[in-house]
Order: sequence, then C-alpha cells, then structure tokens
Amino acid sequence: MRIGFGYDVHRLKEGRKLILCGVEVPCEFGADGHSDADVALHALMDAMLGALALGDIGQHFPDSDEQYRGVQSTVLLKKVYELVTQNGYTLNNADITIVLQSPKIAPFINTMRSLTAQVLGVGIEDISVKATTEEGLGFTGGGAGIAAYAVTLLK
Ligand code: MG
Repeated sequence: MRIGFGYDVHRLKEGRKLILCGVEVPCEFGADGHSDADVALHALMDAMLGALALGDIGQHFPDSDEQYRGVQSTVLLKKVYELVTQNGYTLNNADITIVLQSPKIAPFINTMRSLTAQVLGVGIEDISVKATTEEGLGFTGGGAGIAAYAVTLLK
C-alpha cells in the first residue's frame, strides 16, 4: 500500500468555465489556468504521483508546453493512472475535498464521483468527493480562488 496527498489552487475569473472532476458546474466565473483548470483532478493526480514518488503534474505536464493548453484534465488523469498501473499499482480509494465559497456544488457531487470513477475504470464507491467553504475567510472565502485537497491509497 502507498498513500499520497495532493493540493491545488486556481484563481477564479469571470467568463471561465468551472470544471470540477470533469463536470462543468454552471457559474458566471470559473477557474483560470493553462489547462481546463480542474483543481479537483489536479489534486487527485498529484496525490497519485505522490504515492509513488513520481513527482508532480507540473513536471509531467508543464504549463510551458503548448500541447497542454486547454487540455481536459480527465485526459491527463488517464495518463497518470496509466503510469500508476505501469508501476504495478491500482487505486484502492481516493478522497477529494473541494474548497470554495460558491456556487453550491452538492447537486453535482455524484456526477463528479461517477465521471472520475469511469475515467479510472474503478467503482464509484472508491471515489469520494466532498465540498466545504471556509466560512468567508481567506482567498476561497473571498471568492478569489478555489482549492482542492486529495488523498489516495494505491495497492
Ligand atoms: Mg492546477
């Protein structure tokens, strides 16, 4: 068993899409970034890479590389999981926490779980997605940004 932790932050910007675990959440603002800025999947990928001490997504998919401009993070997640399985591991489970003030993403959580599970080829029961606010405090509370934490266990 190998455990890994990932953390990611993106700025929020008007007119950008808000994509979380591959699911578009209707919103007048979204996460800014070189890729689709899916903060939740970025944290998850870093957790998987961290579990195997394989670096981070910045090393594997540099934002200086034009081929990753606007790329869907689900595509990157598939590549990361290929690396995991090539190293002889599979996912036991993952737990993701998304931190943002608004909008409420509870209605989208199950779709996020099932889409992530589908990309990885695992059961929905192995993917947990949670959301919380920081009670109006800090950069997430003020709406300047969105953060995500992920923990994963590989076997
Ligand atoms: Mg990121």
